[in-house]
Amino acid sequence: MAKTALVTGAGRGIGAGIVEKLASEKWNVAVCDLKSVEEGNAQCAELARKYGVEARYYRADISSASDRENLVKSVAADFGALDALVNNAGVAPKVRADILEMTEESFDFVVGVNLKGTFFLSQAVGRYFAERKAGGVIVNIGSCSATVASISRGEYCMSKAGVAMITKLFAVRMAECGVNVYEIRPGVISTPMTSVVKAKYDKLIAEGLTLQPRWGYPEDIAKAVAMLVRGDLGYSTGQVINVGGGMDIARL
Ligand code: NAD
Repeated sequence: MAKTALVTGAGRGIGAGIVEKLASEKWNVAVCDLKSVEEGNAQCAELARKYGVEARYYRADISSASDRENLVKSVAADFGALDALVNNAGVAPKVRADILEMTEESFDFVVGVNLKGTFFLSQAVGRYFAERKAGGVIVNIGSCSATVASISRGEYCMSKAGVAMITKLFAVRMAECGVNVYEIRPGVISTPMTSVVKAKYDKLIAEGLTLQPRWGYPEDIAKAVAMLVRGDLGYSTGQVINVGGGMDIARL
């Protein structure tokens, strides 16, 4: 029987690449995003048509407790089971501001989605996995910003450093339930999120930021997710997979 993956923030960018890849590998996909139901349903109809899988759209905000609760209940009921959670939804600050100027509002917005939303959705799905007793996989899409300091978006860096700890915590807690937990740490990936800083990163990549001299694409992340949910790194729970063209290697 086909397995089901819930992917958050799957309406565009990296998340859309992930559901495309998983559907192509015959996973049923629960697509969670904030975009309209019409747009989400159209995306899912296309996935079902192209790959012959079940694809359903859920308009849900992962920073909302009631949305998270409804989401997990609905997905489990609609598909009959849930086998993998990909915590991909994430936001950058609306305004890039120096940490001496950052507002509490921006901190709450970014941390509310990236850290709180990821933690509590993992908690809800973790409870479901523990009760179901059939294993499971959680993949968190972190960021190179978990360790690289950017003073113009400190709230993002702090949230992603927190996601790294969420991965460790859930790997430890869920091991007894046969649930593996991983973090994928993207480098610079071409998506709507990074379109506003394209010129900056074009220049940095040309100057050698990445060992592999190109932007990353959603497919690069999606392939790594597919490998993990398939179980190819089944004896490596809690690990971080860097997908950034080698930019994480410190050089002199
Ligand atoms: P994106 O902005 O292009 O897409 C993010 C998607 O998440 C959007 O469709 C948006 O509607 C959805 N979303 C936002 N808030 C949500 C919420 N509260 N609930 C549900 N859905 C929500 O971003 P992207 O570049 O595709 O990034 C995806 C993930 O990868 C994020 O966690 C991001 O931090 C991370 N990441 C991206 C890069 C990069 O270079 N693009 C690098 C490192 C990490």
